[in-house]
Amino acid sequence: MTTNHDYPTLRMYIAGEWCEGGAGSTAPVLNPATEEVLGHVPLATVADLDRAAEAAVTGFAAWRDTPVAERTAILHQAADLLVSRSDEIGRTMTLEQGKPLREASGEARRVAGALRWDADDARRAYGRVIPSEEGTLLTVRRQPVGPVAAFTPWNFPAGGPMRKIAAALSAGCSIVIKASEETPGTAVRLVRCFEDAGVPAGALNLVFGEPAEVSAHLIGHPATRLIAFTGSVPVGKLLSAAAGAEMKPSLMELGGHAPVIVCEDADPVAAARRAAAAKFVNAGQVCTSPSRFLVHESLLEEFTEEFVRAAEAVVVGDGLDEGVTMGPLANERRLRAVEALTADAVAKGAKVRTGGERLDRPGYFFAPTVLTGVSDDAALMSEEPFGPIAPLVPFSDLGDALRLANSLPYGLAAYGFTRSTATAERLTREFEAGILSINHCGGSVHEAPSGGVKASGYGREGGPEGLDAYLVTKRVSHLLAG
Ligand code: NAD
Repeated sequence: MTTNHDYPTLRMYIAGEWCEGGAGSTAPVLNPATEEVLGHVPLATVADLDRAAEAAVTGFAAWRDTPVAERTAILHQAADLLVSRSDEIGRTMTLEQGKPLREASGEARRVAGALRWDADDARRAYGRVIPSEEGTLLTVRRQPVGPVAAFTPWNFPAGGPMRKIAAALSAGCSIVIKASEETPGTAVRLVRCFEDAGVPAGALNLVFGEPAEVSAHLIGHPATRLIAFTGSVPVGKLLSAAAGAEMKPSLMELGGHAPVIVCEDADPVAAARRAAAAKFVNAGQVCTSPSRFLVHESLLEEFTEEFVRAAEAVVVGDGLDEGVTMGPLANERRLRAVEALTADAVAKGAKVRTGGERLDRPGYFFAPTVLTGVSDDAALMSEEPFGPIAPLVPFSDLGDALRLANSLPYGLAAYGFTRSTATAERLTREFEAGILSINHCGGSVHEAPSGGVKASGYGREGGPEGLDAYLVTKRVSHLLAG
């Protein structure tokens, strides 16, 4: 039973104070499982944004000069709070985003791990000493870039913001983050963990607002030194162009349209089970979600049967209800987009093997959908579906499959299934993607970098590369006799 009881009061967090927007304007936040209003998110004015950017300057000075051991201890304390509050964070997330409670609480616990990884990695942000001329100490230092402006979407209400907050604070930067206006409650709960752990005022600021206005203002603000964005390719292009016009570096984690190639020698049943399990996580609203299934023609029938069985075993419902394994789409835009992509594919000859329509109940529910006979010119084959639709397409030659896989401007995730080491190596060489999984469809891990190539963006989050964008390299030559 959904209640608003677990939903926090929505406020922005600027200079260590929880506040409403200066103009008092707000936007409603909906529960996608019921379409009920959960609360109202405050929207920032330009004056609010200026206060946040200025607070980030003061916060940067305090946080950068906090000894790294102390910063790390505070961030570990925040991670402990995230874990101990993961159930309440998860309930808030399910209410506003729709994903099943287990997934949501799991996400809250997982982000604590990401934070610990980055916090510990900051202790290894080594510079170097370079042999140089007599009497000169030549060193290279890695220092925090400065205040960061970050923008994150609604699909991972904890994971998205935490990638930015963890890396920025670990590196010694301050941050102004605009989390999604559609999932603000989770962001409020995350920020409280940092506040309670003792992050100084101004080092972490949370704002909401009209996205285009907020990003334009913060990117142009002289205080901002780095722009970090997760979201769609078109918006990423806009923001990176705006950053470029200011000569400010940016980190872009954008969308994809991940191909799965099931080779002739693969186990079709195991491949179908693993691919289907990944497909319906978060109702397909994952940037790395497998979304084009290229299956060797000799395996297509067996693969399709098992995939359809797995799709039909998904339990769709309100994420707060016991046993539900897939919630609604997060907003009405996604529901409309998924309906349109399915209708277009069917009009161009696709056959619906299961699903294919929204559920007859309130909320933005769409059935897990499997399509075969999808023509190359169906929009679904080139537009990221960001929903629970799986087009299955046969191929006869691996070279053709790779060409099709690489034919889009995206290059985020790719998946291959094969029993041959040589074929796996060919996939590794030829897939144009920043993230490749072979014989499984696993998610991201803290210890390895994630990010895209081509239009899927640049920069990496996680792993030893995760702090790179947040650190600048300074060459220091020190004439000792001076
Ligand atoms: P959208 O392009 O309108 O927005 C994507 C995100 O960017 C949202 O969080 C939005 O608030 C934000 N945004 C939009 N305009 C902005 C601006 N000018 N400045 C700053 N932020 C801005 O799309 P949407 O309907 O919210 O999501 C649909 C598409 O977005 C999906 O098809 C998918 O491609 C992409 N997406 C990708 C990710 C990811 O993890 N890479 C996450 C969510 C959405």
